[in-house]
Amino acid sequence: MNTYGDPKQRIREIGLELYQSVNEVPTIFDKGRWMGRLMDHAMKDEGFKLNLFRYIDVLPSLKTDAQIANLLEEYFSGVKAAPFIIRKGIKRISGGIAPFVAARVIKAGVKSLARQFIAGEGSRDALETLGSLWENGFASSVDLLGEEVLSDREAEEYIQKYLRLLESLASESGRWRRDSGLENNSGGPIPRFDISCKVTSLYSQLDPLDWEGSVDRAKENLRPIIAAARDAGASLCIDMEQYYTKDLIIEIFKQTLDEFGDHLFAGIALQAYLKESRRDLLGLIEWAKARKRQISVRLVKGAYWDYEVVSNRQRGWPVPVFEHKDETDDNFEELTRILLENPESIRPALATHNIRSISHAIAVAEALNLPRSDFEFQMLYGMGEPLRRKLRKMGYRVRVYTPVGELIPGMAYLVRRLLENTSNTSFLRGFFAERRSFEEIIRHPDPKRAVIREKNPLEFRNEPSADFSKAENRDKMQQALRSVKAHFGSRYPLHIAGEDRFGEKEILSLNPADPEAVVGRVSSADRDDAERAVAAARDALLSWGNVTPSDRAGVLFKTATEMRKRRFELAALEVCEAGKTWKEADGDVIEAIDYLEYYGREMGRFARPAHLGDYPGEVNDYFYAPKGIGLVITPWNFPLAISAGMVSAALVTGNCVIFKPSSLAPLVGRRLVEAFLGTGLPPGVLQFLPGSGVEVGEYLVAHHGVDFIAFTGSKEVGLRIIRLASEVKPGQQSVKRVIAEMGGKNAIIVDDTAELDETVKGVLESALGYQGQKCSACSRVIVIEGIYDEFLARLKDAMESIRIGLPEDPGTFLGPVIDEGAVRKINKYLDIGKKEARLFFFRERSGKGFFIGPAIFTGVDPLSTLAQEEIFGPVLSVIKARSIDEAIDIANNTAYALTGGIFSRSPLHIRKVRERFRAGNLYINRKITGALVGRQPFGGFGMSGVGLKSGGPDYLLQFMDPRSISENTIRRGFAPLG
Ligand code: NAD
Repeated sequence: MNTYGDPKQRIREIGLELYQSVNEVPTIFDKGRWMGRLMDHAMKDEGFKLNLFRYIDVLPSLKTDAQIANLLEEYFSGVKAAPFIIRKGIKRISGGIAPFVAARVIKAGVKSLARQFIAGEGSRDALETLGSLWENGFASSVDLLGEEVLSDREAEEYIQKYLRLLESLASESGRWRRDSGLENNSGGPIPRFDISCKVTSLYSQLDPLDWEGSVDRAKENLRPIIAAARDAGASLCIDMEQYYTKDLIIEIFKQTLDEFGDHLFAGIALQAYLKESRRDLLGLIEWAKARKRQISVRLVKGAYWDYEVVSNRQRGWPVPVFEHKDETDDNFEELTRILLENPESIRPALATHNIRSISHAIAVAEALNLPRSDFEFQMLYGMGEPLRRKLRKMGYRVRVYTPVGELIPGMAYLVRRLLENTSNTSFLRGFFAERRSFEEIIRHPDPKRAVIREKNPLEFRNEPSADFSKAENRDKMQQALRSVKAHFGSRYPLHIAGEDRFGEKEILSLNPADPEAVVGRVSSADRDDAERAVAAARDALLSWGNVTPSDRAGVLFKTATEMRKRRFELAALEVCEAGKTWKEADGDVIEAIDYLEYYGREMGRFARPAHLGDYPGEVNDYFYAPKGIGLVITPWNFPLAISAGMVSAALVTGNCVIFKPSSLAPLVGRRLVEAFLGTGLPPGVLQFLPGSGVEVGEYLVAHHGVDFIAFTGSKEVGLRIIRLASEVKPGQQSVKRVIAEMGGKNAIIVDDTAELDETVKGVLESALGYQGQKCSACSRVIVIEGIYDEFLARLKDAMESIRIGLPEDPGTFLGPVIDEGAVRKINKYLDIGKKEARLFFFRERSGKGFFIGPAIFTGVDPLSTLAQEEIFGPVLSVIKARSIDEAIDIANNTAYALTGGIFSRSPLHIRKVRERFRAGNLYINRKITGALVGRQPFGGFGMSGVGLKSGGPDYLLQFMDPRSISENTIRRGFAPLG
């Protein structure tokens, strides 16, 4: 607790002085001008605001005037209450005004909007702006706006830009007049200028999952900037962005500074909206104290609030930010106090436009007798100018955070500022636009704690992925990898009729990254085992069918609990057996848990008979009964999730199951069965029968005792199974139902309004995630001419920069393919591709392991082998299209119809794609892989499969036979009523 009491009165006095002195209205809120009127309209109509900001966001990347005019219509013609200026624009365009006239006006408008918040496009503009700020008595910090860094080349460009900026600023700032207020604190001179730097822009593969690799590479790239800043006499502040990278950035900051003991003027930003910010600040103070050094801390409230709430909720992770604005404001005051109380270690920089927060800081500093020069305020360029002028007059140093950059890279920043200015909780809006009363402005923030929504245990929620930004989870995964490796080479039995059995033959499960390592030896079933398995299943059928649906669902929930406990071990096994990277392996485990939880709940819907019709004298029951004995045949690429999904659906609906995993990932299959058996499943309900597809698989498919087959795998095998299953054998009691989920030749369309950062990232992940070995993977990108070259260049650079390596190494993006056969097959397609098209890009890792690619082909004919056949590896065909209609035609021009997507900011194109793109799962402006159970039910049609979507509300129906019973309840003329 502080020792100087509560400076409430003083806060009011300072606040009043600030409140009364500010009479001007900033342009953005000035309703006398078009900009102010537009913002005013946006603040009153959320729907319009959304469209307006989306239009502003896409505008700089539009290449032609016609596009600018067309998109204006697309965005606003349906908006009834658009403001006059926009309605007039649309009317003129549809009335035949040349698009270039409208486009010129619109471009000029957006440019002037951007100029409100962005100082200029290049370093020349920056120098001018900083010089004039200095002339007017303000210090500055330059932020070079950049596109998201997706490659080493882009990171290098970013570094070079900073080095050039520092060089020119060093000479330019020498010409600025002396200003003792700006260039001194009580300890002596401080740098004349400051730069802000984003660590995420220094290394394209930065990810806390790869902690050491990210720290090393980011430090390597940060060093020259810090050295140049030191030599130029500048200070430097490390910016803070998303919460996910926060701990990593703090670590990089500390480690780099340790190397630069002599560079005194460096600092870091902290975001008061983060619940952890107090702990982080205290940690930094302790760190600085231990080194007897001073660091700057820029305290901001935080600019990614919406993103943090949405993205963390989507992932099922705790929301790291305070959910009430008052909590953030309150925390800001608390952190301000801590900062001001520690001047020996911290140079506080309070970045806020809020009169209450500013007044509080001044009152506390006064109470602590802290000289005015020992802390500073920071404000954003173009925001709160009247306030900053007042503060300067009051004798405080104000530093203006000044972004510089071109419009396209600047758009994300501009939109953030527009959102900030117009948000309901914005201080600036309240003060300048709504003219809130002094009492409202100065009131003490009242931190109502957010109401934690209790999770309803009955409601299905997706299992959260492991947050590998947390050291604890990284350690658990490393430990699990060690433990899995310690058991390499162990033997695993079959499971039939409640007993484990070792067979004569074995399947060797190899590590695709190191085929000399035998992950395990799994018994291989023969035909006799298959016979025994069918008989055992038949014996168990009646009693299992009589277990209540809720008890059967209970088995699924218990299995899920067991898997949750062992999630890292299961993921580690997938890394070793299937060659999945950490995130991919974790993704498969949580999807498996999702299926168990989802189908367990779904069964509740089908458990009770429905009474149909409402007629006296008859009772009509409608209910579902198990089909019988199910054969589940699964692929290796999602060895846990797909197996867990199909096995659990069959079991929960009351069937007995023979489960044949792929011979390329039998160990994961065995672990799944162990988890089920651990719940006390009665003997015969689930048999584990690994073995050759042709020998055991086909034998069982054709077996008269099997009632249905749930298969996921290739089209060739799926079609063969469908054919074999249709041949009726002597003694067969039912027509076999076959659920067959098969392959895909999935396409992503990229149009000329696409946001390229997101697009390149989305295509990269869709095409190369798990080495392209997903049925949902993108193998064709269809790009509209206008953006083709730019997209391709960035995609190539990004592919050049990803790390190819061992899946167990957390920095690896691309690992090996599954086996030698896969390498051979992919090589065959590479040879075909070289004849049919142009091999535009190819990279390969030498050494042992089944490594191949990635590859990009260009000039691909949409009807060629390359564009028609599923390759199942990291091979991408890029096809050029002239229009959106042509792009959709090309996308639809295969027999497959599994997944597909578009990256576009054109409402018209998105609508066309929704209507015409043939795909079981269509994705808009996101990657096309990673469907979530219960949210994006998964499965294709055409040659991609027959069956109802997995993870969806119809799936379980396929495992049951619906029955109807009708009873005449009239006896001798009387019937029960009601
Ligand atoms: P695959 O067809 O070679 O094998 C799948 C399973 O079928 C394995 O267990 C295999 O042993 C078995 N099998 C092989 N021949 C058989 C036969 N004649 N009779 C009975 N069983 C037989 O497929 P894969 O290589 O394991 O998996 C990759 C394929 O799976 C790709 O084509 C991919 O698109 C597809 N896939 C589809 C989905 C989907 O949901 N649509 C999901 C994952 C994978």
